[in-house]
Amino acid sequence: MDEDNVVDINMKDAPACGRCFMLVARYAPQVDAPTGTYHRECFEAWYFGRFGRRPRLYADGSRHLYQVRDKAA
Ligand SMILES: [Zn+2]
Repeated sequence: MDEDNVVDINMKDAPACGRCFMLVARYAPQVDAPTGTYHRECFEAWYFGRFGRRPRLYADGSRHLYQVRDKAA
């Protein structure tokens, strides 16, 4: 965890992770899935547990926001 990146984050507007229910920081690695927002690590762990493989994630013009292209998700 790089502490330097979390100093100025306003957590008021942060969504809650759909898996661990902790807030997802604005600039934290996260996945924008049809079912909600997840930490990237949470999403990968959930997806791997369900489908037995890693999700196919695509960065959407930034380094921290990913979208999943699998129909299964
Ligand atoms: Zn999470």
